[in-house]
Order: sequence, then structure tokens, then C-alpha cells
Amino acid sequence: SDHSLTYPKSPAEMDWAKYYPAYAAHKIEEQEKEKDAEGESHDLEQIPPMEGKATTQPVEIADIGCGFGGLLFALAPEFPDTLILGMEIRMSVTEYVQEKVRALRVQNASTSAYQNVSCMRANTMKFLPNFFTKAQLSKIFLCFPDPHFKQRKHKARIVSYTLNSEYAYVLKPGGIVYTITDVEDLHKWMVGHFEKHPSFERVGEEEQEQDVCVKLMRKETEEGKKVERNNGPKYVACFRRVEDPAWP
Ligand code: SAM
Repeated sequence: SDHSLTYPKSPAEMDWAKYYPAYAAHKIEEQEKEKDAEGESHDLEQIPPMEGKATTQPVEIADIGCGFGGLLFALAPEFPDTLILGMEIRMSVTEYVQEKVRALRVQNASTSAYQNVSCMRANTMKFLPNFFTKAQLSKIFLCFPDPHFKQRKHKARIVSYTLNSEYAYVLKPGGIVYTITDVEDLHKWMVGHFEKHPSFERVGEEEQEQDVCVKLMRKETEEGKKVERNNGPKYVACFRRVEDPAWP
């Protein structure tokens, strides 16, 4: 149940620095002030005053329903300069991922590895635009979403016309939604819903197969590994956020 979850009123209210302390804007500002005190050259004037909650750059990759975070920990070194966020509804699973992030950051203290990855507890079916601004994200992953097989449960699926409009809102034009599942019916459902949405076009097979993210989501997700062990099928489909049509 998610009744204990709270949501920011707007993305600006989010305490992003808590999730990515190495990227905290106020910390960078303090470092510049220290340099200033030591008489080093600096460009503090160019840095706007930041609130304590902001990071120097926004989250750009979201893994929705990240589970135990296998994909997150593979994406982090692949995109070392990009902030990556897993979103997960189960509290204990979120805590597991957060603990793993902490441990990896400590183990890699001499480098900045894994400072760019974090996990948040959230029900992504609710208020996604409260977390991210319009066109903030460049990639959204929907990996092995719960299938909700029964017809009357379909409304619980994380792909629907309404939710696709939210994904379209937070994705920048050219940004990509990645989907993978072992359930053929769900694959067809996701393809159908994205293809009929005017903000998305399906990415061609050749481009899809060259994308490193597709390789990672097949190989590094916990579900992907499980399906591999059982020799099950993996259906992949990716969708590009197209430009909004110009106003007449
Ligand atoms: N993506 C991971 C993988 O591929 O290994 C986990 C897949 S698992 C089958 C689905 C995950 O989505 C679960 O961890 C579940 O708790 C999470 N989930 C389901 N509904 C969600 C929601 N509305 N918001 C956030 N997470 C959700």
C-alpha cells in the first residue's frame, strides 16, 4: 500500500541533494567560497545562489519499478556524468537499493563512481510530473513491469494512454522509453498503447539493437536474468518522444 507516501508539490520542492550529495549545488557553492578565501581564482559570480535542495544538474534517466536495481548499477558506470534515479513502490526493496548505493559509494570513495545513481520510494502511477519538470528526462525504463494478467486488473498496468501522456510530458523530444517483458500479451499492449499515442514513434529494430541500453536491460535486470535462466522470451520495444507539433 502507498498511503504513507508523500509527494512534492512541484519538482523544485524535491530534496535532490539528499539523493545525490556529491552533486549538491550548495556544496559546490561552498567549495567556490573556500577557494575564494584562499585567494584562488573562481567564478562565483557566475554561479546563481542555490537552495540547499538543488543539484548542479537534473536527473535525466529514470528506471520505473526498478526492483533490486540491477539495471541502475549497470547504467551508472555507462553514463558516469548523468544522474540516474530508480523509482520503486516497495519500501524494503527501495531500502535495499539505497543501502547498496551507500556501500558502493564508500567502496569507490577514491573515484566519484556511483554518486550519480540513487533510488526513491514512489508510486510512479501517481504525480510523476510533481517529480520531474517538462522535458527533463532523456530516458525512461519500464523493465518487466508487473503483467496484471486479468482483464479487470489491466488498469493497474504502468502503460496506459494516460500514463503515456505523463511519460511524454517529462521526456524531452528525442528522449526514449525502453520497454522489455517476457509476457507477449503485455508486450503487445505496450506497443499498442505507445504506437497510438501521438507523442511517440517506435524505434526501428536496427537502431534498437545497437543501443547499449537495450543490451543492459536484457542482461542486467534481475527479471532479465531470471528469464535467461528459464530460457524464456524477452520482448523489447523502444519509443522515441517526437517533437510537439507547432501551433498553427
Ligand atoms: N525492473 C525490475 C527488473 O526488471 O528486474 C523489477 C521488475 S518487477 C517484476 C516490477 C517492479 O515494479 C516491482 O519491484 C514492483 O514493486 C514495482 N512497481 C510496481 N508498481 C509500481 C508503481 N506504481 N510505482 C513504482 N514501482 C512499482
